[in-house]
Amino acid sequence: SLPVIYAITPTYSRAVQKAELTRLANTFRQVPQFHWVVVEDSNSHTELVSRFLARSGLRYTHLNVFTPRRFKRTGMPRATEQRNLALGWLRGHRASKDKGVVFFADDDNTYSLELFEEMRSTRRVSVWPVGLVGGRRYERPLVKKGKVVGWYTGWKADRPFAIDMAGFAVNLQVILSNPRALFKRRGAKPGMQESDFLKQITKVEDLEPKAQNCTQVLVWHTRTEKVNLGNETKRQQDSVFIEV
Ligand code: UDP
Ligand code: MN
Repeated sequence: SLPVIYAITPTYSRAVQKAELTRLANTFRQVPQFHWVVVEDSNSHTELVSRFLARSGLRYTHLNVFTPRRFKRTGMPRATEQRNLALGWLRGHRASKDKGVVFFADDDNTYSLELFEEMRSTRRVSVWPVGLVGGRRYERPLVKKGKVVGWYTGWKADRPFAIDMAGFAVNLQVILSNPRALFKRRGAKPGMQESDFLKQITKVEDLEPKAQNCTQVLVWHTRTEKVNLGNETKRQQDSVFIEV
């Protein structure tokens, strides 16, 4: 049978949350052998996300952990605690007999279906290009004779792994056999989360290039415009409560 793709999605309450989750679920429903690990940045499961997941038709695990206020400042890495909680869940609930691939799927990106078929054959750690990121049309691993030899990027080129969170996948067994590999808060610099994590589990020369030797963009680091709620009233005016 196919290895299961475990997509780890941190998510937080905001005006566009349900719209983002809807776009994601519509994509993920097309992917065979898929398990969605949704981690809410909140003190408890919200009703909106609980109901949404229950009705999604997807296989899922619903977790939550609230980001401490001191970490919610601009320039600080986002969703560190949420991704780590999901890694802990996998380590506690999956074993060496389970075949799987772990992927970090932020809730606002855009994912093609081909991406999931590319990552499914990940033996240890695989990589591919990401569109609309780093101040360029795309970033990508540079590949020579089937090996990653460098990075095409316009931003912080000295990163050991100059790659976005959406640009790699990890075999489940690598997650399980490196139980201390986590995303770091201490000393974490903006944009270094991916490198800090990847250097705990792999080396650049061992990366497996996907998407035709990293020449195709199958995922986009899209970002959703902030909604204008300028005409909202202070107190609820409608006679019924409408979930949006
Ligand atoms: N996120 C979160 N809590 C926050 C901010 C972001 O859980 O306070 C989640 C968000 O839903 C997304 C991921 O973390 O899945 C990355 O956040 P964002 O897309 O804002 O980051 P960027 O696009 O700037 O890398
Ligand atoms: Mn984003």
